[in-house]
Amino acid sequence: MSALRISILGAGAMGSLFGGLLAEVGHAVELLDVNPAQIAAVRERGLLIRNDAGERRLALPIMRPEEATTQPDWLIVFTKAMHTQGALAAAKHLIGPQTRLLSLQNGLGNAEKLAGFADASRIAIGMTTVPADLVAPGEVHSHGQSRTRVVMADGGKEPALAALAAALNAAGLPGAVDPDAVVAIWEKVAFNVALNSLCAVTQRTVGGLGGAAEGRRLDHAVASEVLAVAQAEGLAVLAQRTHATIDHALDHHGGHKPSMLQDLLAKRPTEIETLNGAVVRVAEKHSIAAPRTEALYALVKMAEQAA
Ligand code: NAD
Repeated sequence: MSALRISILGAGAMGSLFGGLLAEVGHAVELLDVNPAQIAAVRERGLLIRNDAGERRLALPIMRPEEATTQPDWLIVFTKAMHTQGALAAAKHLIGPQTRLLSLQNGLGNAEKLAGFADASRIAIGMTTVPADLVAPGEVHSHGQSRTRVVMADGGKEPALAALAAALNAAGLPGAVDPDAVVAIWEKVAFNVALNSLCAVTQRTVGGLGGAAEGRRLDHAVASEVLAVAQAEGLAVLAQRTHATIDHALDHHGGHKPSMLQDLLAKRPTEIETLNGAVVRVAEKHSIAAPRTEALYALVKMAEQAA
Protein backbone atom coordinates (compact mmCIF):
# COMPACT_ATOMS: atom_id res chain seq x y z
CA MET A 1 0.00 0.00 0.00
CA SER A 2 1.45 3.37 -0.97
CA ALA A 3 1.70 6.10 1.63
CA LEU A 4 -1.07 8.67 1.61
CA ARG A 5 -0.71 12.36 2.45
CA ILE A 6 -3.33 12.94 5.13
CA SER A 7 -4.06 16.19 6.94
CA ILE A 8 -6.27 16.17 9.99
CA LEU A 9 -8.31 19.34 10.49
CA GLY A 10 -9.12 19.46 14.20
CA ALA A 11 -6.52 17.46 16.11
CA GLY A 12 -8.31 17.01 19.41
CA ALA A 13 -9.34 13.62 20.77
CA MET A 14 -10.45 11.96 17.51
CA GLY A 15 -8.18 13.85 15.13
CA SER A 16 -5.00 13.12 17.04
CA LEU A 17 -5.95 9.46 17.51
CA PHE A 18 -6.72 8.91 13.81
CA GLY A 19 -3.73 11.00 12.74
CA GLY A 20 -1.35 9.27 15.13
CA LEU A 21 -2.45 5.75 14.19
CA LEU A 22 -2.28 6.51 10.45
CA ALA A 23 1.20 8.03 10.86
CA GLU A 24 2.31 4.98 12.81
CA VAL A 25 1.72 2.75 9.78
CA GLY A 26 3.67 5.01 7.44
CA HIS A 27 1.31 7.67 6.08
CA ALA A 28 2.47 11.29 5.83
CA VAL A 29 0.19 12.90 8.39
CA GLU A 30 -0.05 16.57 9.39
CA LEU A 31 -2.16 17.68 12.34
CA LEU A 32 -3.91 21.06 11.99
CA ASP A 33 -5.39 22.73 15.04
CA VAL A 34 -5.82 26.12 16.69
CA ASN A 35 -5.43 25.11 20.33
CA PRO A 36 -2.06 26.53 21.50
CA ALA A 37 -1.78 24.00 24.35
CA GLN A 38 -2.27 21.04 21.99
CA ILE A 39 0.17 22.46 19.42
CA ALA A 40 2.84 23.13 22.07
CA ALA A 41 2.46 19.72 23.74
CA VAL A 42 2.73 17.73 20.49
CA ARG A 43 5.69 19.84 19.31
CA GLU A 44 7.57 19.52 22.59
CA ARG A 45 6.83 15.95 23.66
CA GLY A 46 5.17 14.27 20.67
CA LEU A 47 1.71 12.72 20.73
CA LEU A 48 1.15 10.12 23.42
CA ILE A 49 -1.34 7.42 22.39
CA ARG A 50 -2.62 4.86 24.86
CA ASN A 51 -4.92 2.17 23.43
CA ASP A 52 -5.35 -1.59 23.61
CA ALA A 53 -2.04 -1.97 21.71
CA GLY A 54 -0.17 -0.16 24.50
CA GLU A 55 1.32 3.26 25.10
CA ARG A 56 3.73 5.07 22.79
CA ARG A 57 4.84 8.58 21.89
CA LEU A 58 4.95 9.68 18.23
CA ALA A 59 6.64 12.67 16.61
CA LEU A 60 4.08 14.35 14.33
CA PRO A 61 3.99 17.72 12.57
CA ILE A 62 1.30 20.00 14.02
CA MET A 63 0.47 23.56 13.05
CA ARG A 64 -2.37 26.04 12.62
CA PRO A 65 -4.29 25.47 9.34
CA GLU A 66 -3.14 28.77 7.84
CA GLU A 67 0.52 27.81 8.40
CA ALA A 68 0.25 24.52 6.47
CA THR A 69 1.27 24.23 2.83
CA THR A 70 0.77 20.54 1.93
CA GLN A 71 -2.21 19.79 -0.29
CA PRO A 72 -3.03 16.29 0.97
CA ASP A 73 -4.70 13.32 -0.69
CA TRP A 74 -7.24 13.37 2.15
CA LEU A 75 -8.24 16.19 4.47
CA ILE A 76 -10.09 14.56 7.36
CA VAL A 77 -12.28 16.96 9.33
CA PHE A 78 -12.45 16.28 13.05
CA THR A 79 -13.39 19.62 14.57
CA LYS A 80 -16.61 19.82 16.56
CA ALA A 81 -19.47 20.45 14.10
CA MET A 82 -19.88 24.16 14.91
CA HIS A 83 -16.25 24.81 13.93
CA THR A 84 -16.27 22.97 10.57
CA GLN A 85 -16.83 25.93 8.29
CA GLY A 86 -14.39 28.27 10.04
CA ALA A 87 -11.72 25.58 10.04
CA LEU A 88 -12.26 24.76 6.35
CA ALA A 89 -12.12 28.45 5.44
CA ALA A 90 -8.69 28.67 7.10
CA ALA A 91 -7.58 25.47 5.32
CA LYS A 92 -9.02 26.36 1.90
CA HIS A 93 -5.58 26.77 0.32
CA LEU A 94 -4.80 23.12 1.21
CA ILE A 95 -7.69 21.76 -0.87
CA GLY A 96 -6.04 21.07 -4.21
CA PRO A 97 -7.64 19.59 -7.34
CA GLN A 98 -6.78 16.06 -6.11
CA THR A 99 -7.65 16.59 -2.43
CA ARG A 100 -10.61 14.67 -1.06
CA LEU A 101 -12.46 15.62 2.10
CA LEU A 102 -13.84 13.24 4.72
CA SER A 103 -15.98 14.03 7.75
CA LEU A 104 -16.44 11.41 10.46
CA GLN A 105 -18.00 13.96 12.80
CA ASN A 106 -21.18 13.11 14.66
CA GLY A 107 -24.51 14.56 13.62
CA LEU A 108 -26.30 15.56 10.41
CA GLY A 109 -25.36 18.06 7.72
CA ASN A 110 -21.61 17.38 7.52
CA ALA A 111 -21.61 16.69 3.76
CA GLU A 112 -23.48 19.95 3.15
CA LYS A 113 -20.84 21.91 5.07
CA LEU A 114 -17.98 20.28 3.16
CA ALA A 115 -19.80 20.91 -0.12
CA GLY A 116 -18.87 24.58 0.09
CA PHE A 117 -15.21 23.61 -0.30
CA ALA A 118 -15.01 20.79 -2.89
CA ASP A 119 -17.06 19.11 -5.57
CA ALA A 120 -19.45 16.39 -4.27
CA SER A 121 -17.40 13.78 -6.16
CA ARG A 122 -14.49 14.53 -3.77
CA ILE A 123 -16.47 14.51 -0.50
CA ALA A 124 -16.92 11.50 1.75
CA ILE A 125 -18.87 11.15 4.97
CA GLY A 126 -19.14 8.40 7.49
CA MET A 127 -19.77 7.16 10.97
CA THR A 128 -17.29 5.91 13.49
CA THR A 129 -17.79 4.24 16.85
CA VAL A 130 -14.13 4.78 17.77
CA PRO A 131 -14.03 6.35 21.26
CA ALA A 132 -11.29 8.87 22.08
CA ASP A 133 -10.46 11.08 25.05
CA LEU A 134 -7.89 13.84 25.08
CA VAL A 135 -6.93 13.42 28.72
CA ALA A 136 -4.34 16.23 28.57
CA PRO A 137 -2.78 18.26 25.74
CA GLY A 138 -0.84 15.85 23.55
CA GLU A 139 -2.25 12.75 25.27
CA VAL A 140 -5.05 10.67 23.76
CA HIS A 141 -6.63 7.49 25.13
CA SER A 142 -8.89 5.02 23.31
CA HIS A 143 -10.07 1.56 24.27
CA GLY A 144 -12.36 -1.17 23.01
CA GLN A 145 -13.65 -2.35 19.68
CA SER A 146 -14.98 -0.04 17.01
CA ARG A 147 -16.09 0.22 13.43
CA THR A 148 -15.95 3.00 10.87
CA ARG A 149 -18.18 3.17 7.77
CA VAL A 150 -17.57 5.60 4.92
CA VAL A 151 -19.27 6.49 1.65
CA MET A 152 -18.84 9.13 -1.04
CA ALA A 153 -21.40 11.92 -0.55
CA ASP A 154 -22.65 11.47 -4.13
CA GLY A 155 -22.82 7.67 -3.70
CA GLY A 156 -20.08 7.20 -6.31
CA LYS A 157 -17.53 4.38 -6.36
CA GLU A 158 -14.20 6.00 -5.61
CA PRO A 159 -11.00 3.89 -5.50
CA ALA A 160 -9.39 6.57 -3.31
CA LEU A 161 -12.02 5.92 -0.62
CA ALA A 162 -11.31 2.18 -0.73
CA ALA A 163 -7.61 3.01 -0.30
CA LEU A 164 -8.41 5.18 2.71
CA ALA A 165 -10.54 2.43 4.26
CA ALA A 166 -7.63 0.01 3.74
CA ALA A 167 -5.30 2.50 5.42
CA LEU A 168 -7.66 2.74 8.41
CA ASN A 169 -7.77 -1.05 8.71
CA ALA A 170 -3.99 -1.30 8.59
CA ALA A 171 -3.80 1.36 11.31
CA GLY A 172 -6.00 -0.70 13.65
CA LEU A 173 -9.15 1.30 12.96
CA PRO A 174 -11.52 -1.26 11.36
CA GLY A 175 -13.08 0.57 8.45
CA ALA A 176 -15.05 -0.21 5.31
CA VAL A 177 -16.71 1.53 2.40
CA ASP A 178 -20.42 0.95 2.99
CA PRO A 179 -23.25 2.16 0.73
CA ASP A 180 -25.41 2.13 3.88
CA ALA A 181 -23.11 4.45 5.84
CA VAL A 182 -25.91 7.05 5.89
CA VAL A 183 -28.09 4.54 7.75
CA ALA A 184 -25.25 4.10 10.25
CA ILE A 185 -24.96 7.90 10.59
CA TRP A 186 -28.67 8.20 11.44
CA GLU A 187 -28.61 5.29 13.88
CA LYS A 188 -25.71 6.96 15.67
CA VAL A 189 -27.59 10.26 15.63
CA ALA A 190 -30.51 8.49 17.36
CA PHE A 191 -28.07 7.14 19.96
CA ASN A 192 -26.38 10.54 20.46
CA VAL A 193 -29.62 12.53 20.63
CA ALA A 194 -31.03 10.08 23.18
CA LEU A 195 -27.99 9.92 25.43
CA ASN A 196 -26.09 13.19 24.95
CA SER A 197 -28.91 15.68 25.27
CA LEU A 198 -30.53 13.84 28.17
CA CYS A 199 -27.23 13.50 30.06
CA ALA A 200 -26.51 17.18 29.37
CA VAL A 201 -29.89 18.36 30.66
CA THR A 202 -29.93 16.12 33.74
CA GLN A 203 -26.16 16.49 34.36
CA ARG A 204 -25.98 12.73 34.79
CA THR A 205 -23.52 10.21 33.46
CA VAL A 206 -24.76 7.50 31.07
CA GLY A 207 -24.93 5.08 34.01
CA GLY A 208 -26.86 7.70 35.96
CA LEU A 209 -29.55 7.62 33.26
CA GLY A 210 -29.47 3.83 33.05
CA GLY A 211 -30.04 3.52 36.78
CA ALA A 212 -33.34 5.41 36.60
CA ALA A 213 -36.36 3.72 34.98
CA GLU A 214 -37.60 7.14 33.78
CA GLY A 215 -34.21 7.85 32.19
CA ARG A 216 -34.20 4.56 30.29
CA ARG A 217 -37.79 5.03 29.06
CA LEU A 218 -37.14 8.57 27.89
CA ASP A 219 -33.89 7.56 26.15
CA HIS A 220 -35.66 4.90 24.13
CA ALA A 221 -38.63 7.15 23.36
CA VAL A 222 -36.30 9.87 22.04
CA ALA A 223 -34.38 7.35 19.92
CA SER A 224 -37.68 6.08 18.46
CA GLU A 225 -38.59 9.65 17.44
CA VAL A 226 -35.27 10.07 15.63
CA LEU A 227 -35.58 6.70 13.89
CA ALA A 228 -39.08 7.63 12.67
CA VAL A 229 -37.60 10.76 11.09
CA ALA A 230 -34.87 8.68 9.44
CA GLN A 231 -37.52 6.32 8.05
CA ALA A 232 -39.39 9.32 6.63
CA GLU A 233 -36.12 10.15 4.84
CA GLY A 234 -36.37 6.69 3.24
CA LEU A 235 -33.56 5.11 5.27
CA ALA A 236 -33.75 1.49 6.41
CA VAL A 237 -32.63 2.12 9.99
CA LEU A 238 -32.91 -0.85 12.34
CA ALA A 239 -34.79 0.04 15.53
CA GLN A 240 -33.82 -3.14 17.36
CA ARG A 241 -30.10 -2.59 16.71
CA THR A 242 -30.25 1.04 17.87
CA HIS A 243 -32.20 0.27 21.07
CA ALA A 244 -29.81 -2.60 21.87
CA THR A 245 -26.82 -0.24 21.47
CA ILE A 246 -28.49 2.24 23.83
CA ASP A 247 -29.18 -0.50 26.41
CA HIS A 248 -25.57 -1.65 26.16
CA ALA A 249 -24.32 1.88 26.85
CA LEU A 250 -26.76 2.39 29.73
CA ASP A 251 -25.59 -0.88 31.29
CA HIS A 252 -21.85 -0.76 30.57
CA HIS A 253 -20.71 2.86 30.15
CA GLY A 254 -21.64 3.86 33.68
CA GLY A 255 -19.15 6.66 34.40
CA HIS A 256 -19.10 8.10 30.87
CA LYS A 257 -19.97 11.80 30.52
CA PRO A 258 -21.03 12.40 26.89
CA SER A 259 -19.24 15.32 25.20
CA MET A 260 -22.40 17.46 25.30
CA LEU A 261 -22.42 17.26 29.10
CA GLN A 262 -18.67 17.89 29.24
CA ASP A 263 -19.09 20.93 26.95
CA LEU A 264 -21.91 22.40 29.04
CA LEU A 265 -19.96 21.87 32.26
CA ALA A 266 -16.95 23.61 30.67
CA LYS A 267 -19.23 26.44 29.41
CA ARG A 268 -18.41 25.61 25.77
CA PRO A 269 -20.93 25.50 22.89
CA THR A 270 -22.30 22.01 22.21
CA GLU A 271 -23.12 20.04 19.05
CA ILE A 272 -26.88 20.35 19.80
CA GLU A 273 -27.60 22.02 16.43
CA THR A 274 -26.30 19.09 14.37
CA LEU A 275 -27.99 16.53 16.65
CA ASN A 276 -31.42 17.46 18.10
CA GLY A 277 -31.64 20.70 16.09
CA ALA A 278 -31.02 18.99 12.75
CA VAL A 279 -33.43 16.13 13.55
CA VAL A 280 -36.21 18.59 14.45
CA ARG A 281 -35.67 20.46 11.18
CA VAL A 282 -35.90 17.23 9.12
CA ALA A 283 -38.97 16.17 11.14
CA GLU A 284 -40.67 19.49 10.30
CA LYS A 285 -39.93 18.94 6.62
CA HIS A 286 -41.90 15.67 6.81
CA SER A 287 -44.61 17.11 9.13
CA ILE A 288 -43.63 14.61 11.81
CA ALA A 289 -43.79 15.48 15.51
CA ALA A 290 -40.62 14.89 17.55
CA PRO A 291 -41.71 16.53 20.81
CA ARG A 292 -39.15 14.98 23.17
CA THR A 293 -36.24 15.68 20.81
CA GLU A 294 -37.49 19.26 20.41
CA ALA A 295 -37.93 19.79 24.16
CA LEU A 296 -34.39 18.53 24.83
CA TYR A 297 -33.14 20.82 22.05
CA ALA A 298 -34.74 23.84 23.74
CA LEU A 299 -33.43 22.85 27.18
CA VAL A 300 -29.84 22.40 25.95
CA LYS A 301 -30.01 25.71 24.03
CA MET A 302 -31.15 27.47 27.21
CA ALA A 303 -28.42 25.79 29.25
CA GLU A 304 -25.87 26.89 26.62
CA GLN A 305 -27.13 30.47 26.81
CA ALA A 306 -26.99 30.42 30.62
CA ALA A 307 -23.41 29.14 30.44
P1 NAD B 1 -12.30 17.70 20.39
O1 NAD B 1 -12.93 18.92 20.98
O2 NAD B 1 -11.45 16.84 21.27
O3 NAD B 1 -11.40 18.11 19.13
C1 NAD B 1 -11.78 19.11 18.23
C2 NAD B 1 -10.52 19.88 17.87
O4 NAD B 1 -10.84 20.83 16.86
C3 NAD B 1 -9.93 20.68 19.05
O5 NAD B 1 -8.59 20.30 19.27
C4 NAD B 1 -10.05 22.12 18.60
O6 NAD B 1 -8.97 22.94 19.06
C5 NAD B 1 -10.02 21.95 17.09
N1 NAD B 1 -10.53 23.13 16.38
C6 NAD B 1 -11.55 23.97 16.72
N2 NAD B 1 -11.66 24.96 15.82
C7 NAD B 1 -10.70 24.73 14.88
C8 NAD B 1 -10.30 25.40 13.70
N3 NAD B 1 -10.92 26.53 13.30
N4 NAD B 1 -9.28 24.90 12.98
C9 NAD B 1 -8.64 23.77 13.37
N5 NAD B 1 -8.95 23.08 14.50
C10 NAD B 1 -9.98 23.57 15.23
O7 NAD B 1 -13.48 16.86 19.75
P2 NAD B 1 -13.51 15.28 19.44
O8 NAD B 1 -14.00 14.56 20.64
O9 NAD B 1 -12.24 14.88 18.81
O10 NAD B 1 -14.71 15.21 18.37
C11 NAD B 1 -14.53 15.60 17.02
C12 NAD B 1 -15.76 15.16 16.24
O11 NAD B 1 -15.82 13.71 16.27
C13 NAD B 1 -17.09 15.64 16.81
O12 NAD B 1 -18.03 15.84 15.78
C14 NAD B 1 -17.55 14.47 17.69
O13 NAD B 1 -18.94 14.44 17.89
C15 NAD B 1 -17.07 13.31 16.84
N6 NAD B 1 -16.83 12.05 17.56
C16 NAD B 1 -16.17 12.05 18.75
C17 NAD B 1 -15.93 10.83 19.39
C18 NAD B 1 -15.13 10.75 20.68
O14 NAD B 1 -15.10 9.68 21.31
N7 NAD B 1 -14.43 11.77 21.10
C19 NAD B 1 -16.38 9.63 18.81
C20 NAD B 1 -17.02 9.69 17.56
C21 NAD B 1 -17.26 10.90 16.94
